[in-house]
Order: sequence, then structure tokens, then C-alpha cells
Amino acid sequence: MESRLPRRRVVFAWDMHYSCNYRCPYCFYTTTGWTKLAENSNYKTPEEWKEVWGRIHQKYGRCQLRITAGEPFTYPQFPDVVRAVSELHDIQVTSNCSQTEAFRDFVKKADPSRVELDCTFHPLQGEFEPFVENVLFLRRAGFVANVCYLAYPPQMGPMAEFKKRFEGRGIYMNMAIFWGNHQGGQYPHAYTPEEKDRIKAVIGCDVSAETVGLDPIPINGKICGAGQRYAVVQGDGRVYRCGQLCHKDQSLGSIFDPRFELFKKGRACVVDYCRCKEYQSAWEEEDVEALNRRGTIVARSDKEASAI
Ligand code: SF4
Ligand code: SF4
Repeated sequence: MESRLPRRRVVFAWDMHYSCNYRCPYCFYTTTGWTKLAENSNYKTPEEWKEVWGRIHQKYGRCQLRITAGEPFTYPQFPDVVRAVSELHDIQVTSNCSQTEAFRDFVKKADPSRVELDCTFHPLQGEFEPFVENVLFLRRAGFVANVCYLAYPPQMGPMAEFKKRFEGRGIYMNMAIFWGNHQGGQYPHAYTPEEKDRIKAVIGCDVSAETVGLDPIPINGKICGAGQRYAVVQGDGRVYRCGQLCHKDQSLGSIFDPRFELFKKGRACVVDYCRCKEYQSAWEEEDVEALNRRGTIVARSDKEASAI
């Protein structure tokens, strides 16, 4: 389903808390350690969150918030938080789509014109039927609810079959490329040519937003709006340019600090690859299109970039 949310000037990825009912082996939180991470979770009421995001609204207008981190639907009063905060900002929620009871409450409280969902199917943890039923339940309630499947080597075997099963229920299954270590191989570099061909066959084309990352393209210091038009808010409130620039000394400040501000201009990327598709929010629209449609990184001069 096409997103109905408009492109906003500023996008925040919000790692809401470090708790999940699943333990996916490819999950950054699972490999880092949930118990330690949970110490950084910061539980607030819907009213408190509305105040925090209200300050951001005053500074940057209506933004898009991409809520991830653990499983958002296990956050206390999550549907009420969404209802309160979506009065100020558009919201996209990434979920493992397992919390059937919470969804029943959510569809009564959230507005489909302001809130959308990305549902990731985790076949090593959840079952197909309840997942599909929850996706269809959300769609019947008027929500955009898309489905994603990760090309993690141990779950690549049935990916073509799952694509067909989803199609049979009227659902398009987006593929996501795995970045990480598996049995000593660093992915996506470790995908064999045959594995890449199989992934492309499931996607149905050689170049698209879904194939980005299969043959990673170096960023080479490109000026990027991460920190200026896009930022990541972690569970403890610290704000970072993006998911790859999250060392403590790289923080822009805290979302709880009334003086918090984003950068005024884009800055050079300092890592080799943009792993988590954050470029889709952090780059100029024409650069996003170039990578998604042609598989190229458009070089922008410093002069142009400083005008971002
Ligand atoms: S469902 Fe998401 S957050 Fe939970 S373990 Fe799996 S990848 Fe991690
Ligand atoms: S290009 Fe990607 S990794 Fe680099 S700063 Fe921008 S969002 Fe972060």
C-alpha cells in the first residue's frame, strides 16, 4: 500500500523502549542484550509525551515520527500515546504485529489519516496466520499496514513461498536486506551471487528501493541531512544524527531539554554505508529517488548542500 502520509520537513525515528515479546537472532537489541538496554527505557504517560513532542512541534511544525524499538505495542498505554502525539505529528509504527488485543484498542483510538504501520514478519518467532489476520484487521479499520520480510540467511529458504502466501491474501511482501554477522560472514557482503539472484527474483526486479543495500554503495562523505532534517531519539531521550552515529559523544542533546535544537545544515556522512535506509528521510528527495530507482548516489556540491 502506498503511504498516505505527506513528506514532512523533519522526520524523527523514535526508539521508544527496549522491550519486546520476541527474541529475533538478527535483532541489534537481542545481540546487544535486552536486560542492559532496558535500563535506558523511559516510561512516560501520554500527557507527558504530548508535552515533549509539543515543544518539537513549536520549533519544527508537524513532523513525521517513526516509532520503533522493541515492540511499540508493548509500551504501556501505547494507543493513548499515539492518540495524543498524533494530534501534533504524523506517526509510522514498526511492529511485529503480534499484539492482537492492543490492536483492538489501537484502531478505536488512532486516526488512519495520521498513523500508519509497517509490519515485519518474523517467521522464526511468529506464525503466519495470526500475523496476516492482524494486518488485515488493521487494513479493514482503514490503516495503511505494509508487510516486510528480512532476507536473513536462515529464513531465506521459504521467502518465495511466503511472498506467494501473502499475495494470496492480497498483501505485497517487501523484502529487507540483512546487515549483520551470520556464521562469521558479514552481510550483505557475504551474500553469494546465487543468493542475491534469489532475493532479486522474490522482489521481482534488479533495481528498486528494496534492492538498495544488496550491493552496498559507499557514501564517500556525502553531505547528509541526518541531524538536520532527520534524527534518532533513543529510549533515554538522547538524540543522534542517525542509527549509525549513536556514540554518546555524537549526541545532539536530549529531547527532554527545552533548548534542544537540530543542526541548521546538513553535514558530511562519516561512515562507509547507509545501512538502515535512513537516507530515505535524511537526503534530498532527488537523491533518494536516484538511489531507489537507478542505484546511484548523486554527488551534491558543498554549496548546494549548505542550502539544504
Ligand atoms: S520483533 Fe523487532 S524488536 Fe523484537 S526481537 Fe524481533 S527484530 Fe527485535
Ligand atoms: S548517509 Fe546514512 S549513515 Fe550517513 S549520516 Fe546520513 S543517514 Fe547516517
